[in-house]
Amino acid sequence: MNSTGAKHRIVIVGGGAGGLELATRLGDSLGKRGRAEVVLIDKNRTHVWKPKLHEIASGSMDLSAHEVDYLAQAHWHHFRFRIGEMTALDRQRREVRVAPYLDGEGREVTPDRVFGYDTLVLALGSLSNDFGTPGVREHALRLESKADAQRFHARMVNACIRAHAQTTPLRPEQLHVAIIGAGATGVELAAELHRTTREVVAFGLDRVDAEKDIQVNLIEAADRVLPALPERMSQTTLELLRKLGVSVHTSAKVAEVHAQGVRLADSRDVPAELVVWAAGVKAADFLKEIAGLESNRSNQLVVKPTLQTTRDDDIFAIGDCAACAWPEANDGKGGFVPPRAQAAHQQASHVATQIKRRLADRSLTAYRYRDFGSLVSLGEFSTVGNMMGSLMIEGAFARLMYVSLYKMHELALHGFPKMALDTVARLITRRTEPHVKLH
Ligand SMILES: Cc1cc2nc3c(=O)[nH]c(=O)nc-3n(C[C@H](O)[C@H](O)[C@H](O)COP(=O)(O)OP(=O)(O)OC[C@H]3O[C@@H](n4cnc5c(N)ncnc54)[C@H](O)[C@@H]3O)c2cc1C
Repeated sequence: MNSTGAKHRIVIVGGGAGGLELATRLGDSLGKRGRAEVVLIDKNRTHVWKPKLHEIASGSMDLSAHEVDYLAQAHWHHFRFRIGEMTALDRQRREVRVAPYLDGEGREVTPDRVFGYDTLVLALGSLSNDFGTPGVREHALRLESKADAQRFHARMVNACIRAHAQTTPLRPEQLHVAIIGAGATGVELAAELHRTTREVVAFGLDRVDAEKDIQVNLIEAADRVLPALPERMSQTTLELLRKLGVSVHTSAKVAEVHAQGVRLADSRDVPAELVVWAAGVKAADFLKEIAGLESNRSNQLVVKPTLQTTRDDDIFAIGDCAACAWPEANDGKGGFVPPRAQAAHQQASHVATQIKRRLADRSLTAYRYRDFGSLVSLGEFSTVGNMMGSLMIEGAFARLMYVSLYKMHELALHGFPKMALDTVARLITRRTEPHVKLH
């Protein structure tokens, strides 16, 4: 109970990799037993696990099999879902302000609202950071949401259909894609695109010669792909990308994105019809010092080891929007927990336990990031990764580890029986349906 004798109000803002797992856990425990009121707020009606976005963009994923409806999830797991985009926070009144939610035609569905909390968890994720590069906003696509991924996919399929229908020769950039940023997102998208563009063309667009006309360019400012990961992993990934025919440009700083492609700092041009910005992340601008909370240069909220924000014990932050120290990083020199799904997953479990301790008036415990390594999927072609710091893995075992990260998310959301049944159902439909989806 809170000071007014009402049920303790837990408000979680952001139903992504971390927030939705947390709402589900707390709903299944505190919500179900009537010990607290758990409310999840998100600006969208459905959840898609973000590491799947490149599969939506390339068309290799059946969205309907992976999308989670927040209202239904809330119903089955004893929490409440409220739609809307958080815009402000009032720490004195302990209220979160949420903007009106409009439908596709601009009609208001819900008005401007405020939600009171006793414990608040901010799990708002991150956005791509274009570092002010000219032309990115106007000419580049991003992969931040389901809508972005679907937009990219529609443009890619339309570009192939247009090329097939036209009677004049193709322009040099017409079926070229430029992906800026060769981190895990850029690399995974490049590999998926290589395969799915060929599958789209094979659906009867026979005037397009996939080998000659389609070109995927991967552009990276650092001197190697996957610059944040061990060098051996970069080398193996580079070799695999080259085998696929992806054109890799390293030490290539982007000066500008324009209507016909990308201009590099050394004045070279990389012509492209579709440009995707996948370099760097930051938290949303409105989080910068929101209501006097401490934030860093990337707008992430600085948290204590308990994952409470440094200036307010009633407010936790988890996932990509939190700056959580990781003393063991960089061979003991220290750093911050990276913006990864595995970190959001671990932090959701940790905060679920901490909130229960808080309600029981017990002291909170510190979170320690456990790095299980990094895995990068090169579509059906291969998966590479490193585990426990240095062990390099590749192929079927790496693929299994990669898939297991998503299975852990599904397990946290749906429990074992549904996760197992869904997996079997997908394996069966995968055998009977084409791999690429033209949604
Ligand atoms: C294309 C891509 C591929 C990736 N691949 C991998 C991978 O292979 N492995 C890995 O570990 N990580 C990967 N990541 C990173 C991983 O997805 C993130 O680290 C993880 O999703 C972070 O979880 P989160 O809960 O902090 O935020 P998110 O999962 O991003 O969720 C944030 C939620 O907050 C909501 N929201 C945002 N702003 C507001 C607002 N103002 N009001 C209300 N709701 C709001 C959003 O709608 C969203 O539901 C990838 C990311 C991308 C984009």
